[in-house]
Amino acid sequence: MTASRIAVMRGYQNPDSPIMRQHVTKIVATIGPASSTPEMLEAMIQAGVSVVRLNFSHGTAQDHIERARMVREAAQKVGREVAIMADLQGPKIRVGKFAEGKVQLETGQPFVLDAARSEPGDIGGVGLDYKELPNDVKPGDMLLLNDGLIMLKVEAVRGDAVHTTVVEGGELSNNKGINKQGGGLSAPALTGKDMEDIKTAMEFEADYVAVSFPKSATDMEMARQLCHVAGAGRGHRPFLIAKIERAEAIPRLESILLASDGIMVARGDLAVEVGNAAVPALQKHMIRLARQLDRVVITATQMMESMISNPIPTRAEVSDVANAVLDGTDAVMLSAETAAGKYPLQTVREMAQICEAAERFDPAVATDADFTGQNFTRIDQSIALGALFTAQHLGAKAIVALTESGSTALWMSRHRVNMPIYALTPKVASQRRMALYRNVQTMLMDTHADRDSVLHQAEAQLKAGGVLQSGDIYAITCGEPMGAPGGTNMLKICRAA
Ligand code: PGA
Ligand code: MN
Repeated sequence: MTASRIAVMRGYQNPDSPIMRQHVTKIVATIGPASSTPEMLEAMIQAGVSVVRLNFSHGTAQDHIERARMVREAAQKVGREVAIMADLQGPKIRVGKFAEGKVQLETGQPFVLDAARSEPGDIGGVGLDYKELPNDVKPGDMLLLNDGLIMLKVEAVRGDAVHTTVVEGGELSNNKGINKQGGGLSAPALTGKDMEDIKTAMEFEADYVAVSFPKSATDMEMARQLCHVAGAGRGHRPFLIAKIERAEAIPRLESILLASDGIMVARGDLAVEVGNAAVPALQKHMIRLARQLDRVVITATQMMESMISNPIPTRAEVSDVANAVLDGTDAVMLSAETAAGKYPLQTVREMAQICEAAERFDPAVATDADFTGQNFTRIDQSIALGALFTAQHLGAKAIVALTESGSTALWMSRHRVNMPIYALTPKVASQRRMALYRNVQTMLMDTHADRDSVLHQAEAQLKAGGVLQSGDIYAITCGEPMGAPGGTNMLKICRAA
């Protein structure tokens, strides 16, 4: 085994290599005050971050533009393209402010949520940022505040005032979020602020836009329209991620998936709406369905929560990350851990190690049965899966896709195979997008030449990157004529010279 091969396997960054080895399961890291320096970003990308999430619930447009620029520069320095995901705030269904900043609610006491109240809140009640609440609730409904830590039972709705009894008391402070158990709040997914934020995100060409609280496919279609209009000047079209965090989204999961490019298992808000206990099974269901429908999926929230303040994770967190990997997620996400925590870099390193160990025990890697029984009508899709099937049977070293948009690599990566998928693309935008796809490594390569010289160059680059050695078998797909998008129609099995 050559030194470069070992380097690639261990994830070492060989500065001479055109391939910067990525992990099989990708890491999405939210950046914030704890991680917004060039040095920290470079270190985090080096340690395995493939997608950087900008949380539009915090910060100004200028902050995000500046951070996006910093991310692109850091990625360039490290030599590996990463995707930027702009996560829209969405409707924030919140209480107003308190005179003293907070109150201590006692179980059993009455508490009034009043949309018409303009003076600051007190122990008897508080105003609402979300004015529609009185129209959305009825006696008997349960309202969960502050991520479910406080529970209020609706007793009566009188005009603009929702009269409740505190069922679970606790500290309630300014602008805490409100969820309704079982869902049913009518707030639209896209707010005026989101529409402005989409323009900002298109200014820095966000690769992914995540939509918060979508209730239906229509919400996603509307977000896509807005992105296309805002990105038209630059010819930029982001991929859209639907954050599944409302009870209503669950029965409509399939249509939401079909209207999106991927989903986020947004366990924070979802758990409050459907109950904690329902979330693990939903996570598995969502991951399976996303892959089946050729969409990507991110598992998010509290994955390494205790590392916000501790240098090591809990055993339960280790298991949670590993189980998401075994469920087949494309990526695992960090929120406050990297945005505001004390140990952002250690958290990424720890998470990367957990993913790698879990991938080694992935029971699904040896089977190809999940696609042999399916019917394919598209030529490009059939070629992609034919490559997987053949490569697996021949024990190939790698599967290689020459792809413009990345869709061939997406189809390939929806199945779990025991070998890496290398996507060679002439487009940086495709390369960035593919940073989220499980088990996909990317490389930039000009494919606009005659077929033989492109295939020759692909092999040369893979050899130089330590992926292939003389004698290794690999499967490669491409489209003829070369360099035309959407036309994958050829599969070649090669032995490296
Ligand atoms: P958030 O979304 O962090 O923007 O709230 C994720 C979640 O709800 O889990
Ligand atoms: Mn959320």
